Amino acid sequence: MEISGHTQMLCLIGSPVGHSGSPAMYNYSFNKLGLDYVYLAFDIKEEETERAVEALKLLNVRGFNITMPCKTRVLSCCDELSRAAELIGAVNTVVNEKGKLIGHNTDGLGWVRSCREKGVEIQGKKMTIAGSGGAATAITITSALNGIEELSVFALKDSFYTNAEATVEKIHRQVPGCRIRLFDLEDREKLYEEIGDSDIFTNATRVGMKPMDGESLIEDMGVFRKELVVSDVVYNPRMTRLLMDAQKAGCQIIPGVGMLLWQGAEAFKLYTGREMPAREVMERYFSD
Ligand code: NAD
Repeated sequence: MEISGHTQMLCLIGSPVGHSGSPAMYNYSFNKLGLDYVYLAFDIKEEETERAVEALKLLNVRGFNITMPCKTRVLSCCDELSRAAELIGAVNTVVNEKGKLIGHNTDGLGWVRSCREKGVEIQGKKMTIAGSGGAATAITITSALNGIEELSVFALKDSFYTNAEATVEKIHRQVPGCRIRLFDLEDREKLYEEIGDSDIFTNATRVGMKPMDGESLIEDMGVFRKELVVSDVVYNPRMTRLLMDAQKAGCQIIPGVGMLLWQGAEAFKLYTGREMPAREVMERYFSD
């Protein structure tokens, strides 16, 4: 596509953004579908969020994605929030609807979609999930909003623990049909017990990512029953030790790269009303 006076702009804001795969993924998809958009990335520090959003509004961009450290700060710049964004307390996608900024969070939906693509539906299921940071909160809240029946959340008693308490409280109040309980991640016996009758186990901590690559929260291989689906949010490396151990034991695995792809695809749909050519994008940009 040639850029013309009609071309609409989309972008990513946050810092750093230089390593981001989003511009390549979106621009490839616009070209593939013949859509007249262009996608750029701008390095914006947290304290610059409001000014950046004002500027993007003035330029009448179609929308923008937000990465760390601006994801929380951008909340107050939006005119409306999706239910997921409001409950998660973070926005990763803003759509400009005729000057009105609508904030969404597609991270959790990206995870749900990555499960669906592998034939795993979450409705009526029990999941044990480890973590209480950004990725964990998005997955926990979105899976509750999308019909998961039971959640056992395991979190370290670190600075993120209050997030976990707040998430559990929100789900109790806002999604009463979902049973959710919070446990200390240091209690491995309890973790293994809860995984024992779960359909899905998700690692949503940094364990498995550098400098903790080669580490896994699960040391007891007996935990990996064949019926257990094991998912990991870590995507660098693609195959974490958790995923390798689970696969070796015969479990179905859901690598974190799927969440990364599908959170982008969900945002793409919000901007353009079209499905991103996800399979081609996956092959081109996300396979080793
Ligand atoms: P975060 O900093 O918000 O949260 C980190 C979480 O890891 C916290 O719950 C913390 O308690 C836990 N943690 C840290 N060290 C730990 C340890 N030694 N043992 C147990 N728990 C520990 O980070 P985040 O944004 O939630 O990202 C977490 C991971 O998810 C990162 O690897 C990130 O790259 C990945 N991620 C993937 C996607 C995706 O699309 N696949 C999206 C977001 C984040």
